[in-house]
Amino acid sequence: MSTDPHPTLAEAHLLGDAAGHLVDRALERAREITDGGKRIDDHQVLTERVAYAATQARAASELVKAVEEAGRGGLAETTCAAAVAELTRSLIMRLEPALDDLGLGDAALEQVFPAETRAALRRAGHESVLRAIGRHAAETRGRNDWPLDELHDQVREAVREFGEKEVAPEAERIHRNDDLVPESFIRGMAELGYFGLAIPEQYGGSEMGNLAMILTTEELSRASLAAAGSLITRPEILTKALVQGGTEEQKAHWLPKIAAGEIMVGISVTEPDIGSDVAGVKCRAERRGDDWVINGPKSWCTFAGRANVLAVLTRTDPDPSAGAKGLSLFIVPKDTFDGHEFEMKQPGGGRLVGKADATPGYRGMHSFTLNFENYLVPGANLVGGEKGLGRGFYLQMAGFAAGRLQTGGRACGLAQAALEKTAEYVVDRVQFGRPLSAFQLTQYTLGRMTAMLASSRAITYAAALAMDEDERAAAPLAAQAKLLACDMAVELTQQGQLMHGGWGYAEEYAISRYVVDAQVLPIFEGVKPILELKVVGRSLLAG
Ligand SMILES: Cc1cc2nc3c(=O)[nH]c(=O)nc-3n(C[C@H](O)[C@H](O)[C@H](O)COP(=O)(O)OP(=O)(O)OC[C@H]3O[C@@H](n4cnc5c(N)ncnc54)[C@H](O)[C@@H]3O)c2cc1C
Repeated sequence: MSTDPHPTLAEAHLLGDAAGHLVDRALERAREITDGGKRIDDHQVLTERVAYAATQARAASELVKAVEEAGRGGLAETTCAAAVAELTRSLIMRLEPALDDLGLGDAALEQVFPAETRAALRRAGHESVLRAIGRHAAETRGRNDWPLDELHDQVREAVREFGEKEVAPEAERIHRNDDLVPESFIRGMAELGYFGLAIPEQYGGSEMGNLAMILTTEELSRASLAAAGSLITRPEILTKALVQGGTEEQKAHWLPKIAAGEIMVGISVTEPDIGSDVAGVKCRAERRGDDWVINGPKSWCTFAGRANVLAVLTRTDPDPSAGAKGLSLFIVPKDTFDGHEFEMKQPGGGRLVGKADATPGYRGMHSFTLNFENYLVPGANLVGGEKGLGRGFYLQMAGFAAGRLQTGGRACGLAQAALEKTAEYVVDRVQFGRPLSAFQLTQYTLGRMTAMLASSRAITYAAALAMDEDERAAAPLAAQAKLLACDMAVELTQQGQLMHGGWGYAEEYAISRYVVDAQVLPIFEGVKPILELKVVGRSLLAG
């Protein structure tokens, strides 16, 4: 088949619009079926399909917009069209089994995708197009040249240099030995102002905005997801909770310390019996005079050993029927420990013990099971003061929206690293007398990896800019960015591993670390099915 290897932005538009129409029709019907999202649990599979398809359609439209705005022609345009074709094809496959349930049937599909649009879909997603993208990725070794304005370009370059010089050389050692993040990373990041990027200037931050923060996270994650890329996430979650609901004294006290990297933060929501159902948190906080004592277990608290403070979600109203309204958030000070286990004793008899759970990846920060026993917390550390009583769930969710945006950036950075290592490997590795990159299937795979990454980057950057405008309104978009980017990172790292053959399974090749690191991404900051149903699905179906 002779094929134009340069599909245009007009074709990307055509496909993106068609995908958008199909999703709009599916959403409209799903709203009726679920009674505006109230009966999602009676239609979970349908909701999941529609929510994910809507996310893919949104990524397609954000990518087209980004390429158009940047006036990028040539390969950027080709990649955009190919990525939109991939997303469109995938969302059709996702919705197709539910077309009858949605009351749309084949007719809707034919209406939205007439012959001319289907032909554009085949052209834009043709293997020759993806091979051309893959050849370019091999030539440039997968380099990320997403265009940015001067300021953001400088941010990216500076972090890239820090990541390449300081972090990347240590990443494998930290992973293999399950060592703690070195203090030099924290000091270096603090000196460069990375902890203060999203903190208002009046509280010691640089307030450079969410895109700068995402670019920073992305470049650090490219160097190491666990040893650097995730260091900003926890402070960022607490910052958002404080900005939204902290008292003036609390903001003035804690935010400058966070911005300066003086204090490291752990976030403690999950419990051994409570994960996705956050409203069911049981860990108790009770008054003792002006102060509070915390009792109960928590689990998966990342960086809890090194952290100077833990943001702990507790139940302050003993009546379980209070649900989410019975929860409050505390900033809990503690000493720092560098091992995999710790015990902290307070003079009054309070105790906090922690033990890290061994994990196949995401090593360096260590995630702890904790137990609080009569652990005393000053009354001043109840976020929001007396007005914060019962608002912990709401404040935590505000923090999680920021955490999800961050995680979109983390996923893009990790996937970028995998793309680059894979591109290098397939150029260097010779089989059957030719570099792997000379084979069509390798080129095709690299091309798909590049296109998938471009879509995730587009929706993540769009979410970052939207969060600058209106954090609450943009929260669902941040969740969509997290959803798509994390799946992309899992698939892309595995594709990269396959391209490495047996060496992809060897610990000395970074790609094997990327694979195990990526697998945690769809689990935390809202495990994938919950994100689809209760965050993305709920917000789209309520509209
Ligand atoms: C390495 C790592 C680091 C972490 N760091 C932190 C941290 O720093 N702080 C913190 O508080 N937590 C942290 N977590 C915890 C993480 O946020 C939780 O694992 C996550 O929220 C899911 O909770 P769970 O593990 O209890 O799973 P569960 O809630 O038990 O869910 C198990 C599965 O069932 C599905 N499921 C649950 N309910 C429903 C439903 N109603 N409908 C359909 N499907 C459902 C879920 O989607 C999931 O696939 C971390 C986890 C890991 C692995």
